[in-house]
Amino acid sequence: MTRVYNFSAGPAVLPQEVLRQAADEMLDWHGSGMSVMEMSHRGKEFISIYEAAVKDVRELLAIPHNYQVLFLQGGGIGENAIVPLNLVGRKSQPAVVDFIHTGSWSGKSIKEAKKYCKANVAASSEEKKFTAIPPRDTWKLSKDAAYVHICTNETIDGVEFQYTPDVAADTGNAPLVADMSSHILSRAIDVAKYGVIFGGAQKNIGPAGVTLVIVRDDLIGHALPICPSAFDWKMVADNSSMYNTPPTYAIYIAGLVFQWLKKQGGVEAMEQRNIAKAALLYDYLDSTGFYRNNVARDSRSRMNVPFYLSDESLNDTFLAGAKERQLLQLKGHKSVGGMRASIYNAMPVEGVQALIGYLKDFEKKYG
Ligand SMILES: *Cc1c(COP(=O)(O)O)cnc(C)c1O
Repeated sequence: MTRVYNFSAGPAVLPQEVLRQAADEMLDWHGSGMSVMEMSHRGKEFISIYEAAVKDVRELLAIPHNYQVLFLQGGGIGENAIVPLNLVGRKSQPAVVDFIHTGSWSGKSIKEAKKYCKANVAASSEEKKFTAIPPRDTWKLSKDAAYVHICTNETIDGVEFQYTPDVAADTGNAPLVADMSSHILSRAIDVAKYGVIFGGAQKNIGPAGVTLVIVRDDLIGHALPICPSAFDWKMVADNSSMYNTPPTYAIYIAGLVFQWLKKQGGVEAMEQRNIAKAALLYDYLDSTGFYRNNVARDSRSRMNVPFYLSDESLNDTFLAGAKERQLLQLKGHKSVGGMRASIYNAMPVEGVQALIGYLKDFEKKYG
């Protein structure tokens, strides 16, 4: 068996220990004689898997008691509609929602939310080609916003918030909503500073198909009448994420990832490793003119590292050589070109070292 180093932005690398355990348990989960995929979501076996997953993610992120942990479907993109459908009803219609436009994913959120609210772009780094988070003191927030939406890690542009912005005072206490799809569980966060946190699983949590939503109690129960019941956070919360059949297998794998994270020392220990991994790669990219990362230092993502070769005619040669060394999925997103290395929790430091070794050798040969 060969395992490559997979730098895909998502679906992304999972911890090998987790995959091995899932393989061992595939045909017979804990003596049940069944695969988790075959279990009733209402049976005691699956309920125990679900309860352990909720308990573990609560512990990992120190989620306060007045927040619900929900497992939904529809991914991050689905949540771009589900969030306004659940939150704008707290205000008279049409409600205003503030957005901080920091890259491709916040752009998509704005476009989708416009179907349900007046979207105010309170700050944007578009003019800077999304190479920095706009400074907090430049944001033009609305007095009575239903909520403020940020994408705390822009997967395509490689920019990440390194702090949690305070927006309450300027907005009449609007809750902060964060799309954390591509860096949730990669760093410690203060959940109490957010109204809603969501993340599609396939970057840093588990397989595609489940979306983790963390929502403060007082923000539940305001869904617009047109909101589909399966996406009404109250329906989902009142039924412990089982109003309809949840993506049981994805929740099971996410639960194994949570256990793995606890064994690694939790989110704080993971964060230290992520800081070290990202520093290795950025330091090397900064040390040579042959490669270039365009993001301002204080906004650089620890998870997604886009970079360009100074001679872009070498791109295909670069990717072919990387593949020979089993370094895969390094091609940048088509909207920005270049290269991108996604180095999520499950990417070991050895993978980053192997990538840097290749970057050096490639430069020696072609630089
Ligand atoms: C991948 C991603 C999404 C979209 O997730 P889907 O599961 O494809 O809907 C949304 N936001 C961010 C920041 C992402 O990285």
